[in-house]
Amino acid sequence: MKVNVIKDKCIGCGNCVSLTEGEIFDFNEEGLAEAIVDVVPEDLEDTAKDAIVQCPTEAIEEVKEEEK
Ligand code: SF4
Repeated sequence: MKVNVIKDKCIGCGNCVSLTEGEIFDFNEEGLAEAIVDVVPEDLEDTAKDAIVQCPTEAIEEVKEEEK
């Protein structure tokens, strides 16, 4: 799976960064989260899905394969 942070929605709360221990999301220079991996490693997919569900502003989306 691939994930994307919708920049306009992210408030930089850091939940996704800490939840994924900086392995999928990290802060950029603007203090907002962004995906740091192109493809989420299989063993981290559940964690990535948790981050999607737990983002308070629904800023994280799963990028469907056909949207590549
Ligand atoms: S959980 Fe959502 S609002 Fe918080 S830093 Fe991550 S993408 Fe941004």
